[in-house]
Amino acid sequence: MKINTAEFVISNSEVSKCPKEPLPEYAFIGRSNVGKSSLINMLTNHKNLAKTSGRPGKTQLINHFKINNNWFLVDLPGYGYARVSKKAKETFQQFITDYFEKREQLVCAFVLIDIRLEAQKIDLEFINYLGEIEVPFCIVFTKSDKISKGKVEQNIAAYRKALLANNWEEMPQHFITSSLDVVGREPLLDFIDGVNDGIFKNNDL
Ligand code: GDP
Repeated sequence: MKINTAEFVISNSEVSKCPKEPLPEYAFIGRSNVGKSSLINMLTNHKNLAKTSGRPGKTQLINHFKINNNWFLVDLPGYGYARVSKKAKETFQQFITDYFEKREQLVCAFVLIDIRLEAQKIDLEFINYLGEIEVPFCIVFTKSDKISKGKVEQNIAAYRKALLANNWEEMPQHFITSSLDVVGREPLLDFIDGVNDGIFKNNDL
């Protein structure tokens, strides 16, 4: 997929105020500092569409970006960052869960995972939550340039094992990315293109 236009539309903390247009929507979420802003900028070919965070945890809103005038990329707040007060954390968790449970246009979530780390409890909890509410999702491993190819494979195998131990039957669809080296851009955008094609063909929204 070629990105022709990528424009910021609206930020808010209420799912009821998200855009009403019936366009397919893809949400990006992960722990603070996982590389979400960098990935969004890399995918959309923008230097600064999503703000690369100086202080992790500060972008605590649902951010809608319209891509090519036919789908929404949604940048959600990073979770699990210690500097966010307990109260703020509870608030964004509520609106994040509201978003996932109520947003009808949402067709797929991309859960970002730092490829270097072993499976983190909070990510597994979030993935299990998506399973429970039956939201389709893919895993996007980030920062793959930071370790060797062999280690990438090894860490993905370990992640698969962690998911199977959490009662998943198979490894979900996943992408290996590096925003620094622009790795994984085409496969991820082609995946979105394919899902969009199916939706528009079947008039699903
Ligand atoms: P966010 O908090 O999830 O939005 O993460 P950012 O995009 O702000 O990235 C957090 C830090 O990781 C920054 O210092 C980025 O430069 C760095 N980073 C993000 N993606 C990559 C990547 O693919 N490779 C490398 N080497 N560093 C990255």
